[in-house]
Amino acid sequence: MAEIHQTDICVIGAGPAGLFAVFQLGLVDLRCHVIEALDRPGGQLTALYPDKPIYDMPGFRVIDGQPLADRLMDQISPFKTRFHWGQQAISIARAEPQEGLPLGGWQVGMKDGGAVLSKAVVMATGGGTLGHGRTQAAPPGTGTFFQTDSGLISSDTRDFETATPGIFAIGDGCAYPGKMKLILSAFHEAALMAQWAFAICHPQKRLKFQYTTSSSELQRRLGVRSAD
Ligand SMILES: Cc1cc2nc3c(=O)[nH]c(=O)nc-3n(C[C@H](O)[C@H](O)[C@H](O)COP(=O)(O)OP(=O)(O)OC[C@H]3O[C@@H](n4cnc5c(N)ncnc54)[C@H](O)[C@@H]3O)c2cc1C
Repeated sequence: MAEIHQTDICVIGAGPAGLFAVFQLGLVDLRCHVIEALDRPGGQLTALYPDKPIYDMPGFRVIDGQPLADRLMDQISPFKTRFHWGQQAISIARAEPQEGLPLGGWQVGMKDGGAVLSKAVVMATGGGTLGHGRTQAAPPGTGTFFQTDSGLISSDTRDFETATPGIFAIGDGCAYPGKMKLILSAFHEAALMAQWAFAICHPQKRLKFQYTTSSSELQRRLGVRSAD
């Protein structure tokens, strides 16, 4: 039976942008559900060039697509992420206010009739559902994020929010002046997005800037330090 799920953030797409978004959101203690049309993580990395060498990944002289996807999955393993594999996100609409989902929540519909309710949505849809046709823009009046003529979604470089508050776009699927379709750009976009997503989920709280190297709080979230 199609299920209705509830979480902090619904991430659409499990390419490098979506996977690193889960990491950055996990650092600020936000839980994610990830909807992915394919049956595996990695997006273009694993669907188009799993055995091809990448030479511009910071920290690696060379790494192939598949091992990079594996490492991104390993990095998010400390966080309790629910993946919906083989599920296409087909609609985004305002959710009815309810317990645990205050003002301005979203309902992302999936092909099987199920849905994910969340406080914010991250579109990490790359070039569209690989092999399954392009991602559809939400119908006017529901998720009214702005798509360019190329099918890309405009986002603000301050926080990667789209024209619709609470809906973010990062990675190859987003557009802004100077955008480079590189994996490292997607990582940067994910980091900035997570700061603003935190503000949406916790409007009364102020997010403290912290380094993983020195923050015991972040280290506990990453499972590398036990509770004091
Ligand atoms: C041959 C090749 C070589 C490349 N080499 C490099 C390189 O050397 N260095 C570099 O930095 N970049 C390289 N790139 C580019 C890099 O792969 C992309 O920038 C990167 O994959 C973008 O990540 P993404 O997560 O935004 O999108 P994608 O990797 O495209 O992932 C998007 C994911 O979202 C899913 N999706 C989309 N719509 C939906 C939906 N509605 N519902 C559910 N799921 C959905 C898709 O199935 C896909 O898995 C290369 C690309 C190619 C094709």
